[in-house]
Amino acid sequence: MTTNDFRPSKEPSVFYPPQRVLMGPGPSDTHSRVLSAMARPTLGHLDPVFTEMMEELKSLLRYSFQTNNLMTFPVSGPGSVGMEMCFVNMIVPGDKVVVCRNGVFGARMIENVERHGGIAVVVDDKWGEPVDPQKVEDALKQNPDTKILAFVHAETSTGVLSDAKLLCEIARRHDCLTIADTVTSLGGSPIYVDEWGIDAIYSGSQKCLSCPPGLSPVSFSERVTDLVKNRKEKVHSWFMDLNLLLGYWGTTRTYHHTAPTNALYGLHESLLMLYEEGLDHSWARHKRNYSALKAGLETFGMEYVVEEQYRLPQLNAVHVPAGIDEKEVRRRLLEQYNLEIGAGLGDFAGKIWRFGLMGYSSRVENILLCLNALETVFSDMGMKLEQGAAESAAHRNYADNPMPSSSSD
Ligand SMILES: *Cc1c(COP(=O)(O)O)cnc(C)c1O
Repeated sequence: MTTNDFRPSKEPSVFYPPQRVLMGPGPSDTHSRVLSAMARPTLGHLDPVFTEMMEELKSLLRYSFQTNNLMTFPVSGPGSVGMEMCFVNMIVPGDKVVVCRNGVFGARMIENVERHGGIAVVVDDKWGEPVDPQKVEDALKQNPDTKILAFVHAETSTGVLSDAKLLCEIARRHDCLTIADTVTSLGGSPIYVDEWGIDAIYSGSQKCLSCPPGLSPVSFSERVTDLVKNRKEKVHSWFMDLNLLLGYWGTTRTYHHTAPTNALYGLHESLLMLYEEGLDHSWARHKRNYSALKAGLETFGMEYVVEEQYRLPQLNAVHVPAGIDEKEVRRRLLEQYNLEIGAGLGDFAGKIWRFGLMGYSSRVENILLCLNALETVFSDMGMKLEQGAAESAAHRNYADNPMPSSSSD
């Protein structure tokens, strides 16, 4: 045996990814400012210059979440780790958790509850519909020993927004803690953690924050940190134990794990860009671009999955037109236009597309590219369409909905 026996069978080479336009359910396009931030010199994770940046990163996250929670920081791991972190810290085996399921991610919450020894009381709503507050109220009445209410604010599998404020109000009335999944909503739709009284919240870097995947911003109220501090049983995860992480992300700065320094520069830059733009402007921009995309898609006769009032501007789930090979459309968009859109999940597989307009992907040039590319692909596949109608509809829509005046586009 020599080391050469383990050589790759195909000669390896440098990987140059193509320049795609990402209009699926995440990741979204990353701004060059974020990419260059990540290419800056690597620092030690305990370097005082780095820890100063961590403090600023936490304050930018507090702005994005609209909270004063001290325990607000990015977890090293994708959104799923942020999700697991909430459940593993807050659940002691035997705890009852009411979980709202109206899509893929609510179902994952149930998995989390059960794997950590909790008892899940499931409140089901149809895919494409928001969580029904009355059902939640009824479930909490029937289960007065419930400790936590968990729900997905923006369900990425269907493009529906649930009323987080009202759900938190109901939970509070029943003396329950709340866990909110805001992976797709943070930066794209209004979130007011303190005002709404969300106890535990997690998000992801690669959706409306437009940073590469791999980090999960989280924030915990004092009620949660007290609960975790006073647990008799150790948290069933060493890596995700809030009490231990507090040592690193808090003031003592003791080594816990090696933070992904360069990835954190990227998140810092993307949060800085969101701060410079302003949350209100970002929310309005997401709405405006949704409205223009919708106007264009309607010229193809395409219909949305979700009723207008509950729609997420950053995730447009639409039915595939009858007689169209949905996979072939996505293949052509990717090959001919470098444009990625999302397919349906679960019951919606093969039936819908998901157009993501998240963060930096939510901009005029992307809407126009997408509509023009679709028009050509549909025409090539035999659909009879009036040339340029989709783009014109979008332009008219933009003219009718000027952006409220503010700093950037
Ligand atoms: C994307 C997503 C997740 C999972 O995030 P990952 O970064 O893929 O682990 C969780 N919840 C929702 C609502 C999401 O959209």
